[in-house]
Amino acid sequence: MGWLEGKVALITGGGSGIGRALIERFIDEGASIGVLERSEEKVKELQEQFGKKVVVVQGDVTLLEDNERAVAETVRVFGKIDTFIGNAGIFDYFVSLLDLPKEKLDTSFDELFGVNVKGPLYGAKAVLPELLKTQGNIIFTVSNAGFYPAGGGPLYTASKHAVVGLVRELAYELSPKIRVNGVAPGGTLTDLRGPSALGQEKQTQSKVDNIKDLMKTTNPLHVVPSPKQHTSAYVLLASNKDSMAMTGVIINSDGGLGVRGF
Ligand code: NAD
Repeated sequence: MGWLEGKVALITGGGSGIGRALIERFIDEGASIGVLERSEEKVKELQEQFGKKVVVVQGDVTLLEDNERAVAETVRVFGKIDTFIGNAGIFDYFVSLLDLPKEKLDTSFDELFGVNVKGPLYGAKAVLPELLKTQGNIIFTVSNAGFYPAGGGPLYTASKHAVVGLVRELAYELSPKIRVNGVAPGGTLTDLRGPSALGQEKQTQSKVDNIKDLMKTTNPLHVVPSPKQHTSAYVLLASNKDSMAMTGVIINSDGGLGVRGF
């Protein structure tokens, strides 16, 4: 018997990386899954891989109507939503304030904050009526950059600090009916892209020199977790039975960055 038997989760950005690992793990734990994913190619792959266990909606988390479509489609197929996971995100590949081109400030800020901050906010707004019915829960994918410097440039770090704010504010506002928590992964090898406004839409971690060593050496445990290795934290937070007293909590899954010396 899985931890999430009979539950339904809606996950944004399930096309690769942490989101895709979450789909696999939540299905193993007995859940049915709705997905909101932007990439047409990844949408097709998900449908082929998971068949009727998932309902995949192609759309953009920055648009309220796409979030609403994903909610409606998930409820049409599976009858309810117990957990919303706001996970879709993009990175800034460490572009510093000094290196951010003046003429691209507006567009890169809007694009990155659109996906990383507006996305989880709009998702939560769209799913709220359904979560009130099930007394469900919300989990946001944060990042080590939600807590510490040097996990990105100013755009990414500020966006993930904003997600910490969303966890805290929504946990406060939506109690006692809905629990709101987060998981903050550290460096993980995925397909993570950057904003097209900075020409980073095809940038991937594998193109960064020695990325694995960089990730390993900056955390005390010297680990580079796979996406799958973060999923237990989400399973715990999604299970009302197993984490009923937890809200406003963010589980740091980053190799112990909080205990390194600065
Ligand atoms: P990923 O690129 O493999 O997965 C992100 C998915 O979101 C992709 O399938 C992408 O197509 C989708 N997506 C992007 N923009 C979207 C949009 N506007 N609408 C709908 N879907 C969209 O990367 P990942 O590393 O698995 O990222 C997942 C989350 O984890 C992000 O929030 C990221 O910031 C966070 N994170 C990643 C790392 C890391 O090192 N990989 C570390 C900490 C936090």
